[in-house]
Amino acid sequence: MKEIIKEIEKIVGNEWVIKEKEKMLNYIFDETPLPIRPKPSNNIILVKPKSTEEISQIIKLANEKRIPVYPRGGGTGLVGGCIPTKDGIILSLERMDNIEIDKDNLMAIAEAGATLGKLLKIAEEAGLSFPPHPGDEGAQIGGLIACNAGGARAVKHGIMRNFVKGLEVVLPTGEIVKFGGKLLKDNMGYGLMHIIIGSEGTLGIITKAIIRLCPKAEYMLTLILPFNSRHDALNVVPIILTKGIIPLALEYVEKEIMEKSAAHLGEKWTIDGKVFLIAILAGTENEVLSDAEKMARICAENKSLEAYIAERRDEQDVILKIRSNIYTALKEESCDILDTTVPPSNIGKLADEIDRIAEKYNAYIPVYGHAADGNIHSHIMRNDIDKYERIKSEIYEATIKFGGVITGEHGIGKIRTKELYKFIPSKNIELMKGIKKLFDPNSILNPDAVLA
Ligand SMILES: Cc1cc2nc3c(=O)[nH]c(=O)nc-3n(C[C@H](O)[C@H](O)[C@H](O)COP(=O)(O)OP(=O)(O)OC[C@H]3O[C@@H](n4cnc5c(N)ncnc54)[C@H](O)[C@@H]3O)c2cc1C
Repeated sequence: MKEIIKEIEKIVGNEWVIKEKEKMLNYIFDETPLPIRPKPSNNIILVKPKSTEEISQIIKLANEKRIPVYPRGGGTGLVGGCIPTKDGIILSLERMDNIEIDKDNLMAIAEAGATLGKLLKIAEEAGLSFPPHPGDEGAQIGGLIACNAGGARAVKHGIMRNFVKGLEVVLPTGEIVKFGGKLLKDNMGYGLMHIIIGSEGTLGIITKAIIRLCPKAEYMLTLILPFNSRHDALNVVPIILTKGIIPLALEYVEKEIMEKSAAHLGEKWTIDGKVFLIAILAGTENEVLSDAEKMARICAENKSLEAYIAERRDEQDVILKIRSNIYTALKEESCDILDTTVPPSNIGKLADEIDRIAEKYNAYIPVYGHAADGNIHSHIMRNDIDKYERIKSEIYEATIKFGGVITGEHGIGKIRTKELYKFIPSKNIELMKGIKKLFDPNSILNPDAVLA
């Protein structure tokens, strides 16, 4: 390590190479709950480059000396993905945060270090929108793409992958490559860009992205549908979707955790009911009001209590804020947040299994998530830490039985590699290993993540 510090200082300037551990404490962890968070290595340097060319030179050096490099975005990941688990270099892209808008093509050209919050703001100022809300607003474009983040608003518009149209990437050999462009159609050979999306910092450093934007929705409304049980609420989701109603978001939450999240923010959750579906509808006023009425009717026919409508923007923002902060409010009491995803029509069956597992282990397992995507987050709490592995394993087995996957949006990172090997066919692992070898022959990029 010591021998390349001087050379890296020459590339980026002394002030952008941090060697003292106390000055990098905010860079050695992410948002993974403490009990399962991987331990960072001690012999680490933090480097903050300003350009793709600087990154290319750093990576070339690291590759020559076989030194691990850990790309880091906003550090909001939930699976230890950016934690430097071996001696090496943390590469933070925070200084590369420029965003330009191409209004004629409805695209943003964003450097990888720009945050989701900045993209949302700049798109809005240009009279456009970036409809998905694929993660914490402190997450960076590079991290969102590397994780192929999903979020609440995937129902209508899709996930990160559906919005990325072009990428600039520095390969682990230092070469700079470009994929895609400001294009809505591109069939020029294999879809290499899509291998980088979701590769969790193991195949290349994303430095710039072309991201599709949309016109702003004319009208938005939030509809809250209370139910008396998890079973009732989640079983109505496929019925809503098959009636042709496609909301922007259709979230499932529980009263106890909404109250906790509201209290955490100094707000109050006052709506009656044990559990809730929260639908965000967007479109023209007529479309939205008609869909809201249909949805409320379907839910009433399927055991919902009285629907609550939030039309004012400030009221909708508070509801979304409370929903978005559930994880932060539960984090200190949590051992793990699972990210299981099943075909949407099986979400009720998975919820019933989670209820059964909770009863079997006498455990409290709060559940919330992106109901219409079949993607639910169940928390295993620290009070149940002695049963953690058994509860997790039974929830995973149930998910697989219902045709699902153990992660729909958070990824494998460094904490789910064992399960990746368990639940994916060996041929798929062999193909993934071949791809890793091709991109990163010396395994310097985020070496303990995904395939480990
Ligand atoms: C409160 C909260 C809410 C969240 N909600 C959601 C949600 O709704 N949906 C969802 O999908 N996720 C959600 N997340 C998880 C998180 O926001 C996403 O996983 C996000 O994509 C992580 O981005 P980041 O910039 O923070 O990446 P980091 O945590 O810094 O890194 C994550 C991974 O990406 C890699 N990486 C980062 N930058 C680059 C780059 N430039 N090039 C290559 N690899 C890179 C890292 O090496 C690491 O493997 C939430 C997290 C929190 C704390």
